[in-house]
Amino acid sequence: MHIPTIPQLSQHIAITLFWFRRDLRIVDNHGLYQALKNHKNVLPIFIFDTNILDKIGDVADRRVNFIYVQIQRVKTELQKLHSSLCVCYGQPMEIYKELINRILIRAIYTNHDYEPYARERDQAVQDLFTKHHIPFQAFKDQIIFEKDEILKEDGAPYTVFTPYMKKWKAKLIPNLTKVLDTQPYFQNFLKIPPLRLLTLEDMGFRIKSYSFPSREIDIALIKQYDQQRNNLAIKGTSQLSVHLRLGTISIRTATRIALEHNEAWLNQLIWRNFYMMILWHFPNVISSSFKAIYDTIPWINNEQHFQAWCKGRTGYPLVDAGMQELNRTGYMHNRLRMITANFLTKHLLIDWRWGEAYFSKKLLDYELASNNGGWQWAAGSGCDAASYFRIFNPTLQIQKFDPNLTYIKKWNPRFQERDYPKPIVNQQEARERALKIYKKILTDQQG
Ligand code: FAD
Repeated sequence: MHIPTIPQLSQHIAITLFWFRRDLRIVDNHGLYQALKNHKNVLPIFIFDTNILDKIGDVADRRVNFIYVQIQRVKTELQKLHSSLCVCYGQPMEIYKELINRILIRAIYTNHDYEPYARERDQAVQDLFTKHHIPFQAFKDQIIFEKDEILKEDGAPYTVFTPYMKKWKAKLIPNLTKVLDTQPYFQNFLKIPPLRLLTLEDMGFRIKSYSFPSREIDIALIKQYDQQRNNLAIKGTSQLSVHLRLGTISIRTATRIALEHNEAWLNQLIWRNFYMMILWHFPNVISSSFKAIYDTIPWINNEQHFQAWCKGRTGYPLVDAGMQELNRTGYMHNRLRMITANFLTKHLLIDWRWGEAYFSKKLLDYELASNNGGWQWAAGSGCDAASYFRIFNPTLQIQKFDPNLTYIKKWNPRFQERDYPKPIVNQQEARERALKIYKKILTDQQG
């Protein structure tokens, strides 16, 4: 465990903590805004959580590197305001127990986090603070509508996207996308000299010079989004997913831009909100099919086929290009996420959980709710009407989305060479096999 020494801080100065998690920015940050508005001596804190870090196998992990860069940025921004960021390393509960001993804490502020691990962690931390009579305040920040804010007329959560999206739009009022301006309260940050920041090596990781997507929202691109988003030859999508994932940009800002410039882009942001709502109401989707019947699919789970898919060696050039983009960059275009996931589950009949786990290790923008939702959508087991017969033909997809082979040549340049693998399954046979199995399950259920 590591907590930096906080100089000049005695038990006599009461401080308010603001705990950063998926909201790594000092502007338009709801919990931080409330902390600064209501208290003096606000000390921001970030914890490199060993409960999470200890499960990461790769010492040069892309996400850990990304978070580290963002932490350095936030710390520099705070230092310009004569404050600093208290970056700790260890288990949150242990760190807070120690901080409660060391310093006088008036309150702790943070933003809601909806994933099961985070919910459990936050409850334990809240209980700890409550035991010490210290208020724990959490706010909605990473989505526009949370928890039970969008429900059907009968009070049940939506399980289909389109009616949810309609209700979302109907309920949106300007207040929900308003900037929460922290700037007028910046004088309320605790004034302290720069605090020590552990290196990645100190935490058992290694710095690697990855290139990360820009944090700028490209308005010209958003304006063209509906026309360009499926054109694999160009950068037609925002590539902001990792920034939305870690809150390095604000969802309120993104939503205002979407409302002004492109409804198709707004709909994508609503998909994100939809899957977070699904995870909130149905946390069992993490391990089970949203529609239980699909947990009876007799997956083939051929290990060699799975390895070929992971490495981008299936013999299907577009599928392989997508996997190679993922392996090399930590990103994959949405169209390819759909095609590769569909290929794994339908053509190879490999359990969607295997693919989901692989994506979760590789994606820089990995987000439990969206990844799970995307995989269950591809497998046909999720919140989608009768999608079992949606089987993409990976060769026809090339004609539709990459007719000049620009994307394939970029990510899978050896696809025309002699030793390029032969298709690991026959497309037509694999398609019929999947249709038969899915149909049988549904018929058995009805019978
Ligand atoms: P844009 O097209 O510019 O969309 C803007 C933002 O909207 C995205 O940054 C993202 O936050 C959100 N968004 C867009 N499409 C979706 C969608 N279908 N579901 C939920 N949110 C969406 N997205 C993740 O952020 N993390 C994941 O781990 C993830 N795993 C996926 C797995 C599969 C199998 C599939 C089919 C999709 C997955 N997605 C995931 C959704 C989507 O592919 C990515 O959000 C998108 O490709 C990111 O690129 P972008 O930022 O350019 O998106």
